[in-house]
Amino acid sequence: MGVFTEVGDRVWVARYDWFDVNVSVIGGSGGLVVVDTHASATAARVVVDDVRRLGAGEVVAVVNTHEHFDHTFGNGVLREAYGEVPIHAHEWAAEHTLPAGERIKSRYDDEPDDPHAAEVLATEIVPADHTFSSAAVLDLGDRALELIHPGRGHTGGDLVVRIPGTSTDPDVLLAGDLVEESALRQGVPGFGADCYPMDWPATLDLVLNLVTPDTVVVPGHGAPVDRTFVENQRAAIGVVAETIRDLASRGVPVGQALDAADWPYPREELADAVRRGYEHLPRAQKRLPLI
Ligand SMILES: [Zn+2]
Repeated sequence: MGVFTEVGDRVWVARYDWFDVNVSVIGGSGGLVVVDTHASATAARVVVDDVRRLGAGEVVAVVNTHEHFDHTFGNGVLREAYGEVPIHAHEWAAEHTLPAGERIKSRYDDEPDDPHAAEVLATEIVPADHTFSSAAVLDLGDRALELIHPGRGHTGGDLVVRIPGTSTDPDVLLAGDLVEESALRQGVPGFGADCYPMDWPATLDLVLNLVTPDTVVVPGHGAPVDRTFVENQRAAIGVVAETIRDLASRGVPVGQALDAADWPYPREELADAVRRGYEHLPRAQKRLPLI
């Protein structure tokens, strides 16, 4: 069970123990939008119970902040509960939900002792069917939500949801995994095998343009944060990108890069970031190894 807490005018967030992941609900006169759907059909049934207990109305649309299974595997259950509601995502995320989900299932298949293996494997993967490339508006009657793709970062298809406030309630920005707060990950951003470390800093600059000093920023995992937190995380991610650029330009081989510099995050979290960063740098910014 999760508890939906109101963080802005008719904007509720529930934080679930498994992955410390957030599911958000936005209410308007036209109904509710659910943003992210948790990591399995079983987990999403709990989310649906929690949304019903909130008693704020019926779900009319679903949004996925990106394609990862901990944000999309409940899509099918939301449709079981509320009918064929539209599921919105960035076009990249929609396209990658199925292959990324199949990859994660095969990983759980190799770990049958994981207590969540059975429920992940039993989940039907339902990708988003309403997509956009740079921005879209969801009309909820007396209010509208903006879905914005600020660029690549945690994945190739991250979106943020901007929810304007009122004279008495703050703006809310649902940031997905472009911003990471969870203590489960010591607040280290998710630099996975599908991340874009060289693009991520500029992407967060665009996110910061959508955030005022009063905006409540809800990360994909962990507690809500403020603009200063996002500025600090942007700075650290910028250091990761600039360190990769510097090492590559000095001809340090990718296999030696992690040990050749100081990093703002633990080395073991950055192996994929370094590999991906080297791959994504233009040839002109890389030197041949000196040996
Ligand atoms: Zn996530």
